[in-house]
Amino acid sequence: MSTEKSAIIVGAGLVGSLWAVYLSKAGYKVTIYERRSDIRKAEISAGKSINLALSVRGWTALDAVGVGDKIRDLAIPMYGRMMHSTEGELSFQPYGQEDQAIYSISRGGVNARMMDIAEHEGNATIHYNHQCTGVDLEDGKIRLLNKETNETVYDQADVVFACDGAFSAVRYKGMQKLDRFDFSQDFIDDGYREILLPANEDGSYKLDKNALHIWPRGRFMLIALANEDGSFTCTLFMPFDGGENSFKSLNTKEKVDSFFKETFPDFYEMMPGIADAWEDHPLSSLAIMRSYPWHHGKVAMMGDAAHATVPFYGQGMNGGFEDCTVMWRLMQKHNEDWDKVFAEYSVERKPDGDALQDLSLYNYYVMRDYVADPMFLLRKKIEAKFSKLYPEKWLPLYSQVTFSNIRYSEAMASGKAQDKIMDEIMEIPNIEEVWDSQEIMDQLAEKL
Ligand SMILES: Cc1cc2nc3c(=O)[nH]c(=O)nc-3n(C[C@H](O)[C@H](O)[C@H](O)COP(=O)(O)OP(=O)(O)OC[C@H]3O[C@@H](n4cnc5c(N)ncnc54)[C@H](O)[C@@H]3O)c2cc1C
Repeated sequence: MSTEKSAIIVGAGLVGSLWAVYLSKAGYKVTIYERRSDIRKAEISAGKSINLALSVRGWTALDAVGVGDKIRDLAIPMYGRMMHSTEGELSFQPYGQEDQAIYSISRGGVNARMMDIAEHEGNATIHYNHQCTGVDLEDGKIRLLNKETNETVYDQADVVFACDGAFSAVRYKGMQKLDRFDFSQDFIDDGYREILLPANEDGSYKLDKNALHIWPRGRFMLIALANEDGSFTCTLFMPFDGGENSFKSLNTKEKVDSFFKETFPDFYEMMPGIADAWEDHPLSSLAIMRSYPWHHGKVAMMGDAAHATVPFYGQGMNGGFEDCTVMWRLMQKHNEDWDKVFAEYSVERKPDGDALQDLSLYNYYVMRDYVADPMFLLRKKIEAKFSKLYPEKWLPLYSQVTFSNIRYSEAMASGKAQDKIMDEIMEIPNIEEVWDSQEIMDQLAEKL
């Protein structure tokens, strides 16, 4: 009988392919089942593979297993937000200190590179076109549909990891059938549609590539992140339904054309053919999915399968990568006694998954309702000034989430405490005039 340690990973997305590298390094024979075909062989133009913002938690997880440097050459640093007003005025808000950046990476590019590493440097085999259709949680056995042959096949391993995303089949077919398994799914009012802004004819960028561009318009917004080939992937977030500024109302080319012309004039100038490109990408929905526990028997859920969230803090993938960091630490701690590893993983990580989701929702409201509010912006300016004067006393919430590995739950608790203090500071009469004074800084320091 083979004594080789074995693991199955369902889903070769971002989290599954990174976790495969970890397990391979720990000597596991890893078998990955992915329902799609191999993205490395598919004809995907750069613009089609949407991009994401990678930040410190993600880099920590990548670097711990030696993958970070292989991803760095695919990453474009973004040092702040570039806000585009309706008049076309630009204002730049740095994300943190001068050298701090979040990184635009191509989902497909990073995914493909990690699959290469898992297969060639580790002991991993990826089976494409294999869709998980059932799971026996106690025995670590899964049922799969081979989509090429239409055959049903089974596999079994010492441990199984469900990295099959927000609509996880393992969760649905296994966990959600369990007694006392908690699950909730909440779609927000907004959906999103991607738009590819092509490069100039000479291949150069139409916008500054080192910023995340935002066109905030109250109840809806457009954002743009640079791709390596000179293009930008832009995303319009907006309510599905309700009034003229909704996806439902943008139902003809003429309406799309005049909407962009009036609402995002500088964008329209760069892409006058927007109406023709409008349907290149589907309209998609956004949801928060909470579940607990994140394991049962020989199976654990990681990434979106456990804690899918809305994308407004840019942390879904980063949080999923951090699941790998936590699982890896617990593997060492419990000497790969998986019952203990899984039990502690569920208990320790769940509050951070909840906080990641709460923070993402909070930022949805901030971006939707507050970014253009002068008092909100003043509040952020006061915080930034204080943090620069006393960096050891005040790390803004955004920096805790994006530029540190502080647990999401701790970051959220300290953000709430900071909010309480700032509420009091904002009550000071004439705060608009006196905010820049040393007196205000002293008052803030006293409250800590
Ligand atoms: C518009 C948008 C923007 C985002 N921006 C950011 C960002 O800037 N930063 C960030 O950190 N996060 C961002 N996210 C979140 C991020 O995309 C997810 O958190 C991340 O993709 C989760 O990775 P995952 O591996 O858990 O799931 P996925 O990436 O969804 O991968 C799941 C994999 O499982 C496969 N699969 C599914 N079902 C089965 C099955 N039954 N059998 C076999 N295989 C299966 C799928 O084909 C897929 O390959 C964004 C999300 C959206 C929607």
